[in-house]
Amino acid sequence: MTSDVLLTGWGRTAPTRSTVSFPSDADAVRKVLAGAASGRGVLARGLGRSYGDAAQNAGGDILDMTGLTGVHVLDIAGATVTVDAGLSLDTLLRHLVPLGLFVTVSPGTRYVTVGGAIACDIHGKNHHREGSFARSVLSFELLTPDGEIRTVTPEQDSEVFWATAGGMGLTGIVLRATLQLLRIETAMVGVDTERATDLDDVMARMDARDDDYRYSVAWIDLLATGAAMGRSVLTRGDHLPLSGLSEGKRATALDYAPKTRVTAPAFVPPGLLNRLTVQAFNELWFRKAPAHQVGRPESLAAFFHPLDMVTGWNRIYGRAGFLQYQFVVPFGQEEAMRRIVGELVEHQCPSFLAVLKRFGAGNGLLSFPVPGWTLALDIPAAMSGLGPLLSRLDERVVEAGGRVYLAKDSRLSPPMLSRMYPELDRWREIRERLDPQRRLTSDLARRLQLI
Ligand SMILES: Cc1cc2nc3c(=O)[nH]c(=O)nc-3n(C[C@H](O)[C@H](O)[C@H](O)COP(=O)(O)OP(=O)(O)OC[C@H]3O[C@@H](n4cnc5c(N)ncnc54)[C@H](O)[C@@H]3O)c2cc1C
Repeated sequence: MTSDVLLTGWGRTAPTRSTVSFPSDADAVRKVLAGAASGRGVLARGLGRSYGDAAQNAGGDILDMTGLTGVHVLDIAGATVTVDAGLSLDTLLRHLVPLGLFVTVSPGTRYVTVGGAIACDIHGKNHHREGSFARSVLSFELLTPDGEIRTVTPEQDSEVFWATAGGMGLTGIVLRATLQLLRIETAMVGVDTERATDLDDVMARMDARDDDYRYSVAWIDLLATGAAMGRSVLTRGDHLPLSGLSEGKRATALDYAPKTRVTAPAFVPPGLLNRLTVQAFNELWFRKAPAHQVGRPESLAAFFHPLDMVTGWNRIYGRAGFLQYQFVVPFGQEEAMRRIVGELVEHQCPSFLAVLKRFGAGNGLLSFPVPGWTLALDIPAAMSGLGPLLSRLDERVVEAGGRVYLAKDSRLSPPMLSRMYPELDRWREIRERLDPQRRLTSDLARRLQLI
């Protein structure tokens, strides 16, 4: 079965039409890959949670992988699991948590597939300690355009492994993966919260003590000006041990059934998220956070995936949609971070979802994280002056030796990409060997002349 569908990323900008098929096994995937006759190529798509055009392929084929959801081998003693690439982290966690297991890396939403997590080499709040998603992948099966399925591990087929991790679906179709998991004793996180008065204060606090915590993230108020510029709420924590629960709660310590609480309205008046409404929200958010609190137990869902409680929250930006801008600058480039935050504040970007994290070691090639500071913020696409502002920020990022995250991108230019990713040509060589006929492609690949 196929259907013609208009697709966007999570930001709901730049829709394009594709022929979507819904394979239920590897043979069906192979057939679509082999028959990519339109000249517009093929691309795998997961749950469409990348923000821009990474999971779109205008005029070509899309393989919707979300029908491949098997859990094949679950080794509880060894804490590993082998699953189909279309399985969502949401479903996976519902299997794992009651058994005392958790994914090593979780992004800010559970609604991503394992294939999408590998292709974007996603990161979580623990990158400074555990690195990105691919670090927890022991092996995966990759269907390449020649129709072969190769088993790829970081040791045996290291080039293909690291070209696929962060390779944005352009090296092959990931069919299955084996993941190293984390053991947990409860379905709770013990969270420490502190308020920081400005950007320097939050960066100093993170520098000083992030390494004491498995998870760390700071929410930044990008509308606070003057001495309060960059004021933040810093939350850090680790999985709560059983001993952290009262006797009465221990029997249900691993109960896990996260629910969606609200659905965003289908129609949102234009301009709902403007400087004044977001300023009011940010003020409330900052004030309601405790100035200093230690060890508050929070559910896994509340700590890792608060946005998942609102179905379709991306609609609140109205018809024009929104962008997410996420960049990283290396440690030592704190002044560049200050200048960038300063420009965002000066521009009064109505962003209520701006978060700062620290990255540890990176994985090379097209994988995004490098050791340094990363800031991610949502911005309404209709904001005036947005294009020139972000182009100026790209310049600052690149001058500081940093880069922008492709899973969130919808507007970067090809020359900027090569300046940000010095190993791009090496990645292209490996990709070309895997797909000499260039059957795998995407809107992002065409826009950035990736292939
Ligand atoms: C609310 C929210 C919070 C987020 N938080 C984070 C975060 O904290 N950290 C982070 O790193 N990211 C974050 N993201 C981004 C998200 O984790 C990535 O974009 C992820 O790749 C989305 O997975 P998906 O299954 O929806 O993939 P899609 O968006 O459908 O596809 C993304 C890419 O993966 C490729 N792909 C998908 N499946 C396969 C496959 N089987 N084989 C080969 N290629 C494939 C596609 O071709 C495409 O290039 C967040 C997104 C949202 C909406």
